[in-house]
Amino acid sequence: MRFRGMMLGLLMAVALVGPAMAQAGGSAGGPVSSPVGTTQTAGGAAAQPEKPAYTLPPEKLQQAIAYSRARTVLGFAETGWGIAQLVLLLVLGIAAWMRDVAVRRSSNRWVQGFTFFLLFLLVTTLLDLPLSMYGHHLSVRYGQSVQHWGSWFGDQAKGFGLTYVFGGALVMLLFWVMGKSPRRWWFWFWVPTMAAVVLGVFLSPLVIDPLFNKFEPLSQSNPALVARLEQVVARGGIEIPADRMFLMKASEKVTGLNAYVTGFGASKRVVVWDTSIAKATPDEISFIFGHEMGHYVLNHIYKGIAFTGVVLLVLFWLGFHGMQWLLARYGAGWRIAGQGDWAALVVLLLVVSAAAFLADPITNGYSRAQEHEADVYGQEAIHGIVADPQQTAQAAFQVLGEQSLTDPNPSGFVEFWTFGHPSVSRRAAFAASYDPWVAGQSPRYFTK
Ligand SMILES: [Zn+2]
Repeated sequence: MRFRGMMLGLLMAVALVGPAMAQAGGSAGGPVSSPVGTTQTAGGAAAQPEKPAYTLPPEKLQQAIAYSRARTVLGFAETGWGIAQLVLLLVLGIAAWMRDVAVRRSSNRWVQGFTFFLLFLLVTTLLDLPLSMYGHHLSVRYGQSVQHWGSWFGDQAKGFGLTYVFGGALVMLLFWVMGKSPRRWWFWFWVPTMAAVVLGVFLSPLVIDPLFNKFEPLSQSNPALVARLEQVVARGGIEIPADRMFLMKASEKVTGLNAYVTGFGASKRVVVWDTSIAKATPDEISFIFGHEMGHYVLNHIYKGIAFTGVVLLVLFWLGFHGMQWLLARYGAGWRIAGQGDWAALVVLLLVVSAAAFLADPITNGYSRAQEHEADVYGQEAIHGIVADPQQTAQAAFQVLGEQSLTDPNPSGFVEFWTFGHPSVSRRAAFAASYDPWVAGQSPRYFTK
């Protein structure tokens, strides 16, 4: 699944920038949470508290450990299977067969490209399906999702349609650019891909997100909360008009808490899940909101786009060289003549997805660093508004972790490789220890 998101522009924007940058103070669930490097500030003070800042009662702890273990195994299995599929398509000659079908069907490039991509997408989606279904089954079994199978399959179908349309357009563009500039296409394709990423980030809250969830102005159902949040906004010295605050009806599908910042320019907005409002106190929501405001104020969306740009450029460069190397060595056996062959797309995706997997610790490390900044900002933002920012933030992480069945002691390796947020335990420990208003210290982002 990951490679498709990586490769295909608009969706990549949603898949990569979206969740990485936008996932809120939130989803502490599966592959979200933890850090190496990001909490040095907390390290000293938080290292030896008598009682851990985030704990679970025994029966919940058992569940949390089982759930996160299953999620971790599934995550690596999905990536491994995604890469193995591509190898199988090549070695078994299925990629070449798809190309033959597409070329036999028409001499028109558009028909060929979209036929090949349709076959490829159908086969990989079907091959992915058992693991995707198992993932949904796990979410339901551990109380993280309340989505019915019909609705779930509906979401999969929408995702398939979006990937086919936008991904197909990018595939056409890719092969056109490869034809024009056989040795520099990795750069010339990167330019329009970045334009697609920017457009995707801008449009997704307006066009894509509403396809999957319902949104309404937060003020409609929660005017008191909006007034509360505007205090936090005012302390930040910025403007987030009330009509940029949305409520997402997440409770129709999931149980976890979340909030996020998304879009930019005219589409920039803060979204709070209705589950957060149901399960957290106004103080805790203020902290979660403050964290999101941190992403907003600290320009994490823009920085995330720039970071994505660098990562993609490297991936495309590696994709070019890796594809040349593989084609020179195995092209004849796979019946793929060269990079102009439609089936070469599978070779390129193989190289890029393997490289993207190896880059996970870097991209996740970057994400964790931003999340930590937002935690610091969020805690500073509620100073003077809630009675005890340390206690409030720690309590918010407790609720978050409990709701998402987050393992208090994830493996260091799993944190390093897969967590887009610092672990809930680290975040809670940092919150409990972070008090820049004591004598001799000063807040990082605020003057008081
Ligand atoms: Zn965040």
